[in-house]
Amino acid sequence: MLPLILIAPPWALFNRPSIQLATLKAFLHKRFPELAVQAVHLHLETAAQLGYPLYQEVSERSWVAEAVAASLLFPENAPAIGRLFLREGRGGKELARHGLEGLAAGLDAVYNRFLDRIDWQAYGLAGITASLCQTTSGLLLLRRIKERRPQLPLVLGGSSFSGEEGGNLARLFPGVDHLVRGEGEGPLAELAAHYCTAAPPRPLLATEHPPPLDDLDQLPSPDFTEYFDFLHSLPENRRFFPSLPVEMSRGCLWQARHLRPGDDGQRRNGACAFCNLNLQWQGYRHKSAAKVAAEIEALARRHRVLSFAFMDNLLPPRKGGELMHRLAQGGRELRLFTEIRADTSAARLHEMHRAGVRSLQVGIEALSGGLLKKLGKGTSVMANVEMMRHCEALALPHGGNLLLGFPGSDEDDVRETLATMKRVSMFRPLAPVHFWLGLHSPVHANPSAYGITPCGNHRHWRTLLGERLGSQLRLLVQGYRGQQGRQRRLWAPVAARARTWQRSYRALTLPGRNSPPILGYHDGGDFLLLSERREGGTTLQHRLVATSRDIYLFCRTSRSRRQLQQAFADIDAARLEAFLLMMTDKGLMFSAEGRFLSLAVPMEPGLERLDGHGLYRRR
Ligand code: SF4
Repeated sequence: MLPLILIAPPWALFNRPSIQLATLKAFLHKRFPELAVQAVHLHLETAAQLGYPLYQEVSERSWVAEAVAASLLFPENAPAIGRLFLREGRGGKELARHGLEGLAAGLDAVYNRFLDRIDWQAYGLAGITASLCQTTSGLLLLRRIKERRPQLPLVLGGSSFSGEEGGNLARLFPGVDHLVRGEGEGPLAELAAHYCTAAPPRPLLATEHPPPLDDLDQLPSPDFTEYFDFLHSLPENRRFFPSLPVEMSRGCLWQARHLRPGDDGQRRNGACAFCNLNLQWQGYRHKSAAKVAAEIEALARRHRVLSFAFMDNLLPPRKGGELMHRLAQGGRELRLFTEIRADTSAARLHEMHRAGVRSLQVGIEALSGGLLKKLGKGTSVMANVEMMRHCEALALPHGGNLLLGFPGSDEDDVRETLATMKRVSMFRPLAPVHFWLGLHSPVHANPSAYGITPCGNHRHWRTLLGERLGSQLRLLVQGYRGQQGRQRRLWAPVAARARTWQRSYRALTLPGRNSPPILGYHDGGDFLLLSERREGGTTLQHRLVATSRDIYLFCRTSRSRRQLQQAFADIDAARLEAFLLMMTDKGLMFSAEGRFLSLAVPMEPGLERLDGHGLYRRR
């Protein structure tokens, strides 16, 4: 068979190999043992040649990343692309030092070196994966390969073009022979059988909308060989310990639960209204916990790494728990990243922490009940605050965002957000993120319900790709009219408060990794000492004795009024109410939706103990 080459272009995170390449390579090897598949993690090569700090700054800003290759693809748009680069790259020291021209020249050199070293005549098929930050770098690579060998069939996959039709893309950007909009395994195997075989080519089946694989346990373990080969070829001072991507599931369980009958798989009403993360997946499937644990163990043993990042939108609730249990028993000090919903229980979070989860992205998005409803998050303000508290108790960065300017949000949402921010300022701050319209997200599918009118691709795409391509391709970030000025004004105080929150949290966090919490407690057995660090160097202290201590500890997970009254039946209801009111007034407890939560966390991280039900009980 003729060999096949798969390439991951920049600007994906350089310290993670491409999961797409690694899974596809392993799958093809299993299907065609005689087929040679070369996976090129060109993003790592780019980072190594440009320098990691510069690469990192580019990869953290998606419009900056898209601008670099766009300036090589469409030099006639260079002045406008340059202005966009400057605006979006503001504050980036490395970006300012190298400028767009320097970066483009660097990328050009990386591409030329790569293109020169490959014997393109030898291959039967080439595949490029393009997801976040890889749209223009993928297109540039595709064009350059076609210039070297016009007859080489090229297939494009990944999420960047998952809203596009293959025919439209080929018409607008000649050189794209095939587009895979869904799971890559089946279509790529079809294409390999067609193009790489020495026998007369097999007829080509449709590749654009592949049926999903139903048993993910049948997938072989991802193959990261070439990533490590390249990493080990670097001088010692440029090597690092990477984080390996792993996947347990495809799709989103929350979204799958909310697809209405008759939805075409693109109109995802009812789930998170802003989200279009799952365009390329159909339905929700997951591997077994045993399979994922075995994959992680094999990868750790083979590559001597301990850091793994789950690529899942959401780990499956039950099997995810089983996986964490297995990993915790595995005897390795893993360092794991995963995304979770805010209503994940404290018990599950502790289990994750025991397994090695050390960074998270929690789907918080809002601190207003009304807004959470509009967003379709299916969580509550209390769940969000409780999650922030539990993360603080474990010294675990929650990675949560605060969504600003969501169409349809109003003064009440802003008011409640500001009030909540004030009450939870002892916790790690949320990162403010402005709403953007995702192609085929529920808001995009039903814009009038949100008072907006979509107007095609986001205007930055026309700057980057020119009028024709920028307006006729169907790209993931869309533009819209309506409410933008009003929403920006409305949310300006929240943006300002978010900055203050970040500043004060930084100021109150003591130097070193093990800074004590801003609001913490020491338990004296029959009394409780609370310490609250304040700006200006003062520390407020509170002592709770006897039943007051018990109530406070009981509320380390949120409790309803009824639960409190049952647990403390010996206390007069009015006295209990007065105590809760006093504690919330003092900012030591948080109340919402008829529930109460103690805000102080243990002075020593990780010391809170849970019983078998994940609840803290009265002694
Ligand atoms: S934001 Fe997360 S939980 Fe919500 S639909 Fe998207 S992937 Fe699913």
